[in-house]
Amino acid sequence: MGAYRRPRHLDEALSVLARPHTVLAGGTDFYPARVGRVLDENVLDIGGIASLRGVAAGAQGWRLGATTTWSELIEADLPPLFDGLKQAAREVGGRQIQNAGTLAGNICNASPAADGVPCLLALDAEVEIAGSTGRRLPLRQFITGVRRTALAPGELVVAIHVPRPRHEARSAFLKLGARRYLVISIAMAAAALEVADGRVAAARIAVGACSPVAERLPALEAALVGAPCDDLANRVEIAQLAPLSPVDDVRGSASYRRHAAVILLRRLLAGFAP
Ligand SMILES: Cc1cc2nc3c(=O)[nH]c(=O)nc-3n(C[C@H](O)[C@H](O)[C@H](O)COP(=O)(O)OP(=O)(O)OC[C@H]3O[C@@H](n4cnc5c(N)ncnc54)[C@H](O)[C@@H]3O)c2cc1C
Repeated sequence: MGAYRRPRHLDEALSVLARPHTVLAGGTDFYPARVGRVLDENVLDIGGIASLRGVAAGAQGWRLGATTTWSELIEADLPPLFDGLKQAAREVGGRQIQNAGTLAGNICNASPAADGVPCLLALDAEVEIAGSTGRRLPLRQFITGVRRTALAPGELVVAIHVPRPRHEARSAFLKLGARRYLVISIAMAAAALEVADGRVAAARIAVGACSPVAERLPALEAALVGAPCDDLANRVEIAQLAPLSPVDDVRGSASYRRHAAVILLRRLLAGFAP
């Protein structure tokens, strides 16, 4: 095995990263990817850095620390804006995975089927990165492709930021798998709607597992603005799925995925009726 470091402070972690190290958080993607292989790389375990953990609310929005686990998110006192992300958290693996797996690990692993990604896109999340200089990127710019992110050598994710919406807001998430639980998504959809006077004031919709990176659907979002909340499901049209590029694989064909995305979106939006 290479070197194993578990610092307690971010500064120390960043100086460790001056030499090549693989970041380890909950390990629930890291270890399965190395089954049957010798662990010869240097590892930086960030699980002991207190400043990377937990959820905090501020005037501008919420800070979700990088090593916040799915279980901690489920338990956190958060408004209905986070209902969708909490729903996704309850469906990430089983309890053991939710207790170990982290939010940042999910986005850094950059799987097309990462359940957190469409939810965080619908929340307009930004990724806070530390390195030789700190920077923030919108999540969609942070994930650059399948298993690829904008992280440069020497950098790690310290937090995910969610801005406060202007109006009352709620979100929801739906996932389709080959069975109900413990399954990799065939397609999933997330929606965050801001509502004023019973009508949609702003909409952010994202679909995952139907393109290399989960995508927002701007045409559907535009079609929802101004609509009454009890009349959203039938505004979904196949043409609005143009940003998606589903593939055929063992879990489903491209055309099945496209069809599933439409059904998921309609069900998701029907759930916003008062
Ligand atoms: C049985 C099982 C079921 C699962 N079910 C689901 C599921 O239903 N839905 C789903 O989306 N996922 C699922 N997963 C995948 C996994 O649990 C999640 O993606 C989890 O959130 C990963 O977090 P982690 O902390 O364990 O990441 P790790 O395994 O520690 O790391 C994952 C990757 O991200 C990098 N990384 C982690 N944190 C940082 C950071 N702060 N900065 C920079 N790089 C970082 C690591 O270097 C590594 O490349 C499952 C996994 C297992 C084993």
